[in-house]
Amino acid sequence: MRTAQVILDIPTRALSDAFTYEVPAPLIPAIDIGCCVRVDFNNRPALGYVLAIVEEPNATLDYARLKPIDQVLTSSLFTQNASELAQWIAHEYISPLSEAIRLFMPPGASPRLSRDEKGEYVLRQPQVHPVDDRWVSLTEEGQSYIPKRTAIRQRAVIETLRSGEMRVAELSLTFSQISSILNVLEKQGVVRIENRRHIRGMAQMPQRTKETVILTDGQSQALTLIMNAVERKDGSVVLIDGVTGSGKTEVYLRAISRVLAKGQSACVLVPEIALTPQTVGRFRGRFGDQVAVLHSRLSSGERYDQWDLIRTGAARVVVGARSALYAPYADLGLIVIDEEHEGSYKQESSPRYHTRDVAHKMAECLGITLVLGSASPSLESLRQCQMGEWHCVELPERACGRPLPAAQVVDLSKELQAGNKTMFSRALQQALRETIEREEKAVILLNKRGFSSFLLCRDCGYVPECDSCSVSLTYHRGAIPVEYDRGLKQAGGSGYLMCHHCGAIREVPTVCPKCGSRYLKQLGPGTEHAAEQLEMILPEGTPIIRMDADTTRNKGAHERLLEEFMTAETGVLLGTQMIAKGLDFPDVTLVGVLIADVTLKLPDFRAPERTFQLLEQVAGRAGRAEKDGHVIIQTYWPEHYAIRAAAAHDRRAFMAAELPIRKELGYPPYARLTNIIIKSEDKKLVRDAAVELGDALRALIDGPRDLFSDSPSAIHDCCEVVSPISSWQVLGPAPCLFSRLRGDYRWHILIKSPCDADISTVIEPIIRSCRMPRGVSVSVDVDPADLF
Ligand code: ADP
Ligand code: ZN
Ligand code: ZN
Repeated sequence: MRTAQVILDIPTRALSDAFTYEVPAPLIPAIDIGCCVRVDFNNRPALGYVLAIVEEPNATLDYARLKPIDQVLTSSLFTQNASELAQWIAHEYISPLSEAIRLFMPPGASPRLSRDEKGEYVLRQPQVHPVDDRWVSLTEEGQSYIPKRTAIRQRAVIETLRSGEMRVAELSLTFSQISSILNVLEKQGVVRIENRRHIRGMAQMPQRTKETVILTDGQSQALTLIMNAVERKDGSVVLIDGVTGSGKTEVYLRAISRVLAKGQSACVLVPEIALTPQTVGRFRGRFGDQVAVLHSRLSSGERYDQWDLIRTGAARVVVGARSALYAPYADLGLIVIDEEHEGSYKQESSPRYHTRDVAHKMAECLGITLVLGSASPSLESLRQCQMGEWHCVELPERACGRPLPAAQVVDLSKELQAGNKTMFSRALQQALRETIEREEKAVILLNKRGFSSFLLCRDCGYVPECDSCSVSLTYHRGAIPVEYDRGLKQAGGSGYLMCHHCGAIREVPTVCPKCGSRYLKQLGPGTEHAAEQLEMILPEGTPIIRMDADTTRNKGAHERLLEEFMTAETGVLLGTQMIAKGLDFPDVTLVGVLIADVTLKLPDFRAPERTFQLLEQVAGRAGRAEKDGHVIIQTYWPEHYAIRAAAAHDRRAFMAAELPIRKELGYPPYARLTNIIIKSEDKKLVRDAAVELGDALRALIDGPRDLFSDSPSAIHDCCEVVSPISSWQVLGPAPCLFSRLRGDYRWHILIKSPCDADISTVIEPIIRSCRMPRGVSVSVDVDPADLF
């Protein structure tokens, strides 16, 4: 008898295992791995997906009791490889298998089962959405057409099209209401729009830009490493650690063209924010029609269409955001992850996977090569290279030969002492005036990611920290809420400080414990305030473009502001971290960071790393074209290793300072973290549930503090929980930094475990067996990106 392993399309952890069903003889020709089927579950109809088909008899199965599959509803929606990877993802990130398998299916491709008014089950087949297959290119006249100066959007569209033709759907990534702009341009004979559905994949376009540049030594070395790895077919990882503009993309392009020559496909992942027509244009410029683009704003019809081109091998290069990893590649040969350190590679909803780790697993399974690139690689990746697990090439210089901009660090406490109470140091004021005088442009960053408030001594820069977690304490107004107070001494009336990692509470000091100053303040004037001060500093009429959550709330506002800055003769772009990434302004010669300490003092152990990366990125924005750039970093902590290292472009110095701290406190890359979040609308219920779960976890897994004993972890490769487990640690429960979100009160428990620990096998059964009261939900985040 033939049986099938079916995962039900019901996303709960309790139903995470596949069930065995009988495959009746008439269904045998139709059934395959990846098919959506209709089955009976608890005397109700349910949908499920076939994970495996078993032909050999199984002695442990009671065949007489098996239920048959009722109906095969679709052809195969995913492959056997996908099925195996989904099972790995579900296990690794403690998430329902039905959700993990969905990653591998185009959204909207599977049928749904719902009940009508009479309570009868009805099957809804997927709707096919129309696909926008319009392609747009410049006409002969269009090549030399110069639009009016005021037609900012037309100019930007034409500029983008100069790199070659594009799908209209791709242009809509950056241009809102692209259709109306194109209509105008088409009427004027500037662009040509054609429907290309049937041409695609049959007549492939020739390469447009050739491999013209001669690779630098570093680039050649990177390419050789990658191609050797490809030949070995052993799932190797190559990290290209190269400054902005060092020619990483050129290396990807060459490696991809060699992989294509072998008849294989390649996948290029970029952060969503960097998925612009310019990025796509570079790949399409080299590989023409073979490029498919996948991003989150495609309609499901369009996505389905792209997936079809990928599956059939018509599109062999896929450029996309993280979900593009799961496309049905025809013979995948190479995965590239650009800007691998980016936080957006971690999915924030279930399954909470990290793209880098899934890609690594995929590379291992398929015996293909994973290429990571970044100007500021994550410590996790650098550590793998340090240990010799991964290969690494450094590209320390820009390909065009221009030097990295010089960076100057300004001590803000000295400014205050000198009587300057503005947010702009004297050095920055002067540099700004000079930049505007020369009719160049400046970018000023006020990073407000510091949504949390902390105390800062404006005289010496002191920020209170938690003794055991090495993160800054968060300042809260008022008295300690009773549900937080676990026998701790009530702090004074003016507020209290809390560590949102371990829950420790401290009093607010009245004077700075370090220097005795009374000027101990909550940090944080905003961009509006900064813009007002800028107006006073700069000559009247200087364009000041403010970009933050307020000014970009309306649709298209973001792009309009950028266009305004791009087309201005001179001016200042002032904004939050949304201006730091993915943007490339050739005429910016000055970059200023108003208070680098804001990110440095976030209550997160990754704060120094994030600050270092941010400063590296920001610095990379200046002086990209002919003119030299200048960077000014303002801080209360000029001596902090993250600031000094970023200013000196010295990664080694940063790592030498940061890694020992991570090691001592048991943070990644020396340990793995799991963040368990407990939520409820009921304040008391959630606290009690969190404490109970914390106790249950502690009883089973808390161990001595020697996280880094050389002996392999006792639970590795073990299917049952062994108790007690040495070298694990449970922290909390503590209220989350965002202690209330969308009406829910939130607490969290943080678990540290050894690097090689099989977290899921240990934690999952505990969570499953710990019954949560009604209205309390638990979510588990393995390898979290942050702990908010
Ligand atoms: P990255 O991806 O590291 O930011 P790019 O690949 O985008 O760098 O290269 C930056 C610029 O330098 C691009 O304009 C690219 O065309 C150019 N470039 C890349 N490699 C070379 C080379 N070997 N010689 C000259 N120019 C190069
Ligand atoms: Zn002080
Ligand atoms: Zn703490």
